[in-house]
Amino acid sequence: MFIGHFGAGFAGKKFSKSVSLGTYFMAAQWVDLIWPILLLLGIEKAEIKPGISAVTPLDFSYYPFSHSLFGVIVWSVLFAAAYFLFRKKLRNALILGALVISHWFLDLLVHIPDLPIFPGYNLKVGLGIWNSLAATLIVEGLIFAGGVYLYFQTTKAKNKTGLYSFIGLILFLILMYISNLVGPPPPSIEAIGIVGNAQWLIILWGYWIDRNRERYDKQKTN
Ligand SMILES: [Zn+2]
Repeated sequence: MFIGHFGAGFAGKKFSKSVSLGTYFMAAQWVDLIWPILLLLGIEKAEIKPGISAVTPLDFSYYPFSHSLFGVIVWSVLFAAAYFLFRKKLRNALILGALVISHWFLDLLVHIPDLPIFPGYNLKVGLGIWNSLAATLIVEGLIFAGGVYLYFQTTKAKNKTGLYSFIGLILFLILMYISNLVGPPPPSIEAIGIVGNAQWLIILWGYWIDRNRERYDKQKTN
């Protein structure tokens, strides 16, 4: 799953407006941000096997530290604790922790059974929506659209940048998603690792959008 996680990040604003969109993106996509690093370090493994599912040519053969349920829970606790340490806002920390865990459950929907429960155990799960391109587009598209809608409802642009940076990111994410689906398989695992690390730019984009938008309260009374 790709844009669905960003949909979850966008939805975060509905729950607390005092967290930056960039931080929400980081939480929702956290385990996919550390995965490319672990991949490049050779700690986790993936193979390119075109046809393994209708959606991705990647066989996520070994990624217990970033993508086991247990691993994601540990990351969630660490992420929430780090946020709490710096910002001292417990509610926000809990929302961010929940977003880190949301990644695993969203992946669970689409992945073929390759998600480990616990490092060192062979049990792997995945509901396999990736076996159908159409079902993947519908499910992930709805999650993304739902998140963007919630975000759009709770914020408004302060200036033109606040509008164009937001629309630009949505178009960029959709374009990346489509080119991943229709493009040729990646040339190597290293290439996947490098492109994966470039996702930090999307996080920065989230901070940039956030600085140029403000909270929008419908029932504002003077
Ligand atoms: Zn993932």
